[in-house]
Amino acid sequence: MQAEKVFLNTPIEYAKGVGSQRAEILKTELRIFSFGDLLFHFPYRYVDRTQFHTVADLNDEIQNAQIIGTIVNTATVGEGSAKRLTAQFVDENGQAIELVWFKGINYMKYFVQTGVKYVAFGKPSKFKNNYNIVHPELELLSEQNSANAQLQPMYNTTEKMKVRFLDSKSLHKTIKALLPQVHDNISEILPNYVIEKLRLVGRADAILNIHNPANNNDLLAAQKRLKFEELFIIQMRLLQLNLLNKETHKGFYFPTIGEFFNNFYKDKLPFELTNAQKKVIKEIRADFASGKQMNRLLQGDVGSGKTMVALLCMLIAKDNFFQSCLMAPTEILATQHYNSIIEYLKGSGVSVALLTGSTKKKERTFLRENLRSGAIDILIGTHALIEDVVQFNNLGFVVIDEQHRFGVEQRSKLWKKNVLHPHVLVMTATPIPRTLAMTLYGDLDVSIIDELPPGRKAIITTHRFDSARLAVFGFMKEQIKLGRQVYVVYPLIQESETMDYKDLMDGYESISNAFPLPQYTVSIVHGKMKAVDKEFEMQRFVRGETNIMVATTVIEVGVNVPNASIMVIESAERFGLSQLHQLRGRVGRGAEQSYCILMTGYKLSTDGKIRLETMVRTTDGFEIADVDLQLRGPGNVEGTQQSGTLDLKIADLSKDQQIIITARHIATEILTTDSKLQKSENLVLANYLAKSKMQNTVWSRIS
Ligand code: ADP
Ligand code: MG
Repeated sequence: MQAEKVFLNTPIEYAKGVGSQRAEILKTELRIFSFGDLLFHFPYRYVDRTQFHTVADLNDEIQNAQIIGTIVNTATVGEGSAKRLTAQFVDENGQAIELVWFKGINYMKYFVQTGVKYVAFGKPSKFKNNYNIVHPELELLSEQNSANAQLQPMYNTTEKMKVRFLDSKSLHKTIKALLPQVHDNISEILPNYVIEKLRLVGRADAILNIHNPANNNDLLAAQKRLKFEELFIIQMRLLQLNLLNKETHKGFYFPTIGEFFNNFYKDKLPFELTNAQKKVIKEIRADFASGKQMNRLLQGDVGSGKTMVALLCMLIAKDNFFQSCLMAPTEILATQHYNSIIEYLKGSGVSVALLTGSTKKKERTFLRENLRSGAIDILIGTHALIEDVVQFNNLGFVVIDEQHRFGVEQRSKLWKKNVLHPHVLVMTATPIPRTLAMTLYGDLDVSIIDELPPGRKAIITTHRFDSARLAVFGFMKEQIKLGRQVYVVYPLIQESETMDYKDLMDGYESISNAFPLPQYTVSIVHGKMKAVDKEFEMQRFVRGETNIMVATTVIEVGVNVPNASIMVIESAERFGLSQLHQLRGRVGRGAEQSYCILMTGYKLSTDGKIRLETMVRTTDGFEIADVDLQLRGPGNVEGTQQSGTLDLKIADLSKDQQIIITARHIATEILTTDSKLQKSENLVLANYLAKSKMQNTVWSRIS
């Protein structure tokens, strides 16, 4: 153990061929400080060096060419940044290709020799109809030993490194020099039964084979092992954290289901809850009665009835003499929640208040007093709720709607408004792929509503080109005649704001012309309008006084107008999948057949096409989120931005979903039977988890 630690923590300066200058570069460029860091700097891909090419073979498909040949002459040409060293490289058939260096010219000039056989390796690119290779790897043919002519690992490097000849190849050399010590210094961290069950290779072998694979099978086995290890350790840590939180965070005890809940449930609830809603309420009730603080994420597609779940749980809080609050990301949404909740709670004896940025000062003072005295049971609002001056008498339950709009710190302020942390329910309508949620929010408990209330007709989604606009207008007129209302949404992407506003206004004008007064009324809502004007227009639309609502994505989240059954999305190719899904969720809320029409020009990117096809094919939010994850990678999926970048060394959250599920499963199993990791068969793992926490801090602070 001790020896292992010493070896892995050995400063990178002592690695073969590194020295103090290169060590500095490795530290600043790749954050490699020690032997351990270097051994866990894995290749990002492998190149098959068993294949050789001739100049005649080259085509645009070849990513890496490997050519045997001789340099016949070299020349320095060009000025300034175009200054470069060129070499004519002639292959065994006598055909020439140009090798080019823009960097390290002086060094290369002396390094390259004419008349000897080299292997040149690199990406061929076309320049004036001839291929050349910029910054090729050049190796004397005689140096090409059999060990080299295999799968060659490629390591991430930076421009700064390349200037100092710290390229992928020299990194590999340095790593290779460490490999003979790996077996004596890297011990197993996974329990034996896990290794056997999953048929994994040992840790040391995996490290050897990831850097120096003898063949493809060895490489795959090493990758499988290291990916599993990485994801499994994350799961272990998250689940341990979750257990620890539950142990340390005592929570308010809500044992009673009393008259407020029961009366509402029996007399007021206008519909039967779906099974999914019932299941979630059960999960929350169990948390409420556990004595531990609840920290739960509720995922459910738009329209799945999350708000009703939240309301019922707030009534349980009331039954136990606690106050609740509900925080929404926008004023419109907060107001809408408020209006629907006071409607539901009419005559129930539960008092509800609204606090937003535009609440008048006098009203605010009054409201704060009543909050402090406990006269208000439920406070609904925007982030105005977070402010320190807002103090509760006995806050017990916090609901946060549309979680990804709020930062973690913002949220945590709410937790500090009572002696113990209130129970927290975070609701999101952006389904996060299950595997991603497992990795990012693994320390939260997750509830899912995966069922829509009955009687909803599936929304019909179509894709139309701009040239079909007149037909789309015709369809809108038919639907308006039937009494329906229509949303027309324009993209508003920050960087090109002025252009976008112009599009929006042009669109508004052409719609106003096609749908003239007095037969039709058209509303418009966008982010530059004053809150009161926005609210006024929204309310007109909600009351059915206007037929068409032209808007930017301000209507994206939560707005509920059951009679609006047509959603037209302009320049749909410019929206992300989760945004399109959110927007579509604005319709399909009433009894009528609803439609979503995606308008685009003819020019579409491949990703754009996939997004549109996905929207037309399915309304399942989880399926859509999955496609989004495949298209954009884990860092860009809505809802993950605040989680910090997950700096994975080898696993890929979008490609390795099956491994994540396995890792989660096994971690759960282990902690269920041995929550403190005290069993002897789990000892190696327990030691690693305890030790690596420390090592991480040591490793990253040596600089
Ligand atoms: P979400 O917040 O999940 O998007 P909402 O809570 O706004 O969904 O619910 C959407 C609509 O469905 C609301 O009009 C709500 O009253 C209604 N609703 C909720 N649950 C049910 C149910 N079980 N049966 C019928 N309608 C429901
Ligand atoms: Mg909602």
